Amino acid sequence: MEPSDKVLEIHGRLCAVYHCPIGYFHALDPLSELVSSLLSHRTRNADSGAAFKALRARFPDWADVAAAPTTAVEDAIGGVTWPEQKAPRIQAILRAIEAERGVLDLDFLGGLPVDEARAWLERLPGVGPKTSAAVLSFSTLRRPALPVDSHHHRVAIRTGLIPPSLAVGPSHRVLAAQLPADWDAQKIYDNHEILMLHGQRCCFYRKPACGRCPLLDLCPAGQKLHGGVSCPAPP
Ligand code: SF4
Repeated sequence: MEPSDKVLEIHGRLCAVYHCPIGYFHALDPLSELVSSLLSHRTRNADSGAAFKALRARFPDWADVAAAPTTAVEDAIGGVTWPEQKAPRIQAILRAIEAERGVLDLDFLGGLPVDEARAWLERLPGVGPKTSAAVLSFSTLRRPALPVDSHHHRVAIRTGLIPPSLAVGPSHRVLAAQLPADWDAQKIYDNHEILMLHGQRCCFYRKPACGRCPLLDLCPAGQKLHGGVSCPAPP
């Protein structure tokens, strides 16, 4: 099967399981989505959501966050992983945006081509391809950009969409290029969500549930596992 056919087959099967189109879980403006994405790194959704709310409650304006003592920001987001790193990082990003744009607002990204908007975001300190795609896709901009998280990445490796040696960062462009060029933002969002959900609910890191997986006949790793060979973990 050609890679492009395989992508469509996987998308169709998982969409049937996870019920596409999938509703967007956020309706945040792009700057708020950027902060939310930074807080969510290696943190449970419930904890990063609570930290975002606590930050907004303590500092109603993003300019207040940028100007606050770093210890106060760190205290507000204390429920996330590595608040001591995330607080100064968020402040540095807010200050960089204000210095370049004159205002703390990222709505202008909606008027740029997706590649340009992502490149602009990735010039900010600590912003990589997953965050730039998340800002464009998950925010109210609703742009066609594909984030790849660790679950999505693991399923893509095991099903043979990408080689095991391809790290999460560079996998963004490879996986996005496999999708039809005419797909809209919703379909690209669905593709990320279904691969992520499949990693969370079936293709587990340690013991993937291949016996009940709808992708088994398409999946080299799953077939090896069923033949008695351990399923390879991603790098
Ligand atoms: S067959 Fe197994 S390894 Fe392959 S995607 Fe399904 S659960 Fe993951």
